[in-house]
Amino acid sequence: MKRIKKYAWIFDALSHVSIATKTRALKHFISGEKKYMIKGKKGDIDAIIKCSLCPNMCKFDCPTFNASKNESLSPAGKAHLAYIFEKGEYDESIVKAIYECCSCDACKEWCFFDYSLADLLRGVRQDVVEEKAVPDDIMEIASGLIERKTMGERRLKEREGKILYFAGCTVQDEAMGIAKAMMKIFDSIGEEYAVLGEEWCCGYPLYNLGFIKEFKQFAKHNADVFKKYSMIVCSCPTCTYVFKQIYPDMGFKINAVIMHSTEYLARMVEEGKINVENLAMDAVYHDPCKLARRLKIMEEPRYLLRYAVNLKEPYFSREETRCCGRGGQLARIDEEISKKIAEQRKEELKSVATDIVTACPSCKIALNAYDIAEIVAMGLK
Ligand code: SF4
Ligand code: SF4
Repeated sequence: MKRIKKYAWIFDALSHVSIATKTRALKHFISGEKKYMIKGKKGDIDAIIKCSLCPNMCKFDCPTFNASKNESLSPAGKAHLAYIFEKGEYDESIVKAIYECCSCDACKEWCFFDYSLADLLRGVRQDVVEEKAVPDDIMEIASGLIERKTMGERRLKEREGKILYFAGCTVQDEAMGIAKAMMKIFDSIGEEYAVLGEEWCCGYPLYNLGFIKEFKQFAKHNADVFKKYSMIVCSCPTCTYVFKQIYPDMGFKINAVIMHSTEYLARMVEEGKINVENLAMDAVYHDPCKLARRLKIMEEPRYLLRYAVNLKEPYFSREETRCCGRGGQLARIDEEISKKIAEQRKEELKSVATDIVTACPSCKIALNAYDIAEIVAMGLK
C-alpha cells in the first residue's frame, strides 16, 4: 500500500501520454529495480543508487571534494564508484576512492535523504574486505592495529583507581599534552583515577575500514575490561562515540557512565570541584565533527571556555562545523588531501582569532590547536 502511494505520481503522469508510451514507460519502470539492484551485499544498494543520481546537493560542504576539486571524491561521485564496485566492475583506483572520506558527516547535514556517505561507504567497505580487494596501504593500517591493538605508541603508565581515564591511541601516540593536563586536573580534584597499562584501541579504524569481525573482538575485550569501573572519561570524541553508541548497537553493553572530557570537566566546574581563571586570551573554538554531529556535545565546551578565554565563534560552527581533515584515517590514507583540508579550516579559524581551541586530539594536531583540557589545566586556580 505504502509503495503504491509512493509511486502514485507515475500514474498521474502517464495519464497524459499515448498507450504505446505508457506501455514502454511501465515496462522500464517495473524491470528497473530488478536490473539495477544487486542482492546479497552489505552495502545499501538502494541508498547508493539514490545518492549517485542526486544532483550532489551537499558537495559544496564536502572536504574531500573541496580539497581535491575532483568530482569522483564528491559524495555522489563516491556513491557512483561504490555502485560500480558492488557491480564487480572495479579497479584499484575505484576501491581507493571508496576510502577517501573523512567521515565528517557534513553531507548528512544537507542531505534530504539524511544520508551520511561515511555510513554508506562503511557498508561497501565490508564488501571490499569480503572480496579481498582492500588496497595494500589500507590493509597495512588494519593489520598493524589487529596485531598491536593500538594505532601508535603507548606512553601512559598503569595505575589503579575507581574511574578510568581512557586517553585513546592518538593522545598516547601524538598528543600527550592532553593526558598530562587531564592528570593534573584529576590530581587537583583528588580523583582516584585508573589508567590501563595495555590500553587497546576502541577499534574505530577497523569499524570504519570495513573489518567488522575484527572490530567486534576489540569491542568484546574493552567491554570486559570496563566492567570494573563506574565511569570512563575519554579525551577522544571518537572513542566516546564508539563506547556510547557503536558498542551497544553491536551488542556490547557497557554499564559504566561514558563521558567525554568536556562533559566531565563541565560537571566538575558546576560542582565547584575545579575553579578556572580567565587566561585573557582571544580563542576561537573548533567543534570536532564526532563531538558536535554524532554526540551533540556543543554546550559543555563553550561553558568551560567562557570561564577560561575570550571565546570567539567561527562562521562554520556547532553542527555546521568543518572537518580538520584527519577523520576516517584520511591522514594515513591520503596525507596530501588531509593536509589541504586542515589548511583550509585553519585559515577560516585564524581569521577569527590567533589561538584555536578544540576538544579532540586529531583536530588539535591538524589545526595546531589547544585542547580544552590543556586550557583548563593552565587556568586552574
Ligand atoms: S549525500 Fe544526500 S545530498 Fe549528498 S549527494 Fe548523496 S543524496 Fe545527494
Ligand atoms: S562524510 Fe564528509 S568527506 Fe565523506 S563524503 Fe560526506 S562530506 Fe564528504
